[in-house]
Amino acid sequence: MQSPPSSERPERALKSVFTSLPSHISPALAPQSDNADPESDFNLHEPEPRRQPPASLISPAFTPPATPGNATPNPNREPRGIPVDTSKSTEQGPQLVETLPEVFCAVRARIPTVTGSEMFLHLYQNNVDNKEHLAIVFGSAIRSKSLDAPRPGETEMDRMIRGAYVGRLHPGRTNSRIEEIKQDAGVQSAQAAPLVRIHSECYTGETVWSSRCDCGSQLDEAARLMSVPSNARTGGVIIYLRQEGRGIGLGEKLKAYNLQDLGNDTYEANLLLRHPADARSYGLATAMLLDLGVDSCRLLTNNPDKLRAVEGPNREVVVTERVPMIPLAWKTGGKQGVRSEEVEKYLSTKIEKFGHLLSRGE
Ligand SMILES: [Zn+2]
Repeated sequence: MQSPPSSERPERALKSVFTSLPSHISPALAPQSDNADPESDFNLHEPEPRRQPPASLISPAFTPPATPGNATPNPNREPRGIPVDTSKSTEQGPQLVETLPEVFCAVRARIPTVTGSEMFLHLYQNNVDNKEHLAIVFGSAIRSKSLDAPRPGETEMDRMIRGAYVGRLHPGRTNSRIEEIKQDAGVQSAQAAPLVRIHSECYTGETVWSSRCDCGSQLDEAARLMSVPSNARTGGVIIYLRQEGRGIGLGEKLKAYNLQDLGNDTYEANLLLRHPADARSYGLATAMLLDLGVDSCRLLTNNPDKLRAVEGPNREVVVTERVPMIPLAWKTGGKQGVRSEEVEKYLSTKIEKFGHLLSRGE
């Protein structure tokens, strides 16, 4: 005698109907998946059912796929922030450096980008490591004090070559300041708190197309948000820190990937390699922001520890708002951005083990 069908049977039957259909017959909703089912083709930890993201967060259908720096700025959407005040927080904050490092902007150059917007790349030196940390600055209102300061014995040509000029360079220009200030109506001091993103270098995610993490698409999205015309009033800064693999370096990160393939998540893999789960420090970011005249900002992040870390030991920089960073793949229902089994696991680890303020359907 046949046993009565279990409660899972109808769902399985439905699944087999969906999976047996030709691929062009897409159901309006993905079949329900139970994650314990090892045979499921749909074991992608889908939110069930997916909540529609607010209209303001959906990128337009014509946006091309997110290759580095290639997203289409949308003129109508300014990122929405959530007011924060870390001075009222009672939570134990992250370990902060006692004194800020000294930083010095050696050179700056205008970089027109593939999206049509342009930014000024600032290369920094410092007194704590030998790496070339970068500030990617959107808008002409944000200027580096150490770059603009006169250097002994330099000529006007020297100043222009290292990027300490106002306005635009053009063939035949002989002076780094003065007459250009009058000509360039766009030159003004920064008004309100600019949008700031602290980004740590990720060679695998930004350069060699890794789908183990979403760093490449996060960098693209940060640049896109800073380039939208509605953000032009305040400008924006991406502080690009050379701290690969949460600070452990590329070699160790590759070992961690092998440990992940052996069944550990990012957090466990770092601990197995005897690295702190997150070895990054943000003192350099704070010092670079101060050099850029940014003493208050709207911080683009989901990481609660970053809010306080970026402010510095004595709240030298004040974060007035947190602007959520929503993975492009979630925002667009998987049409754009990184979407893979690995990146889903990585994002889940960020939420569960690193306490990121991110929820599906945000
Ligand atoms: Zn990455």
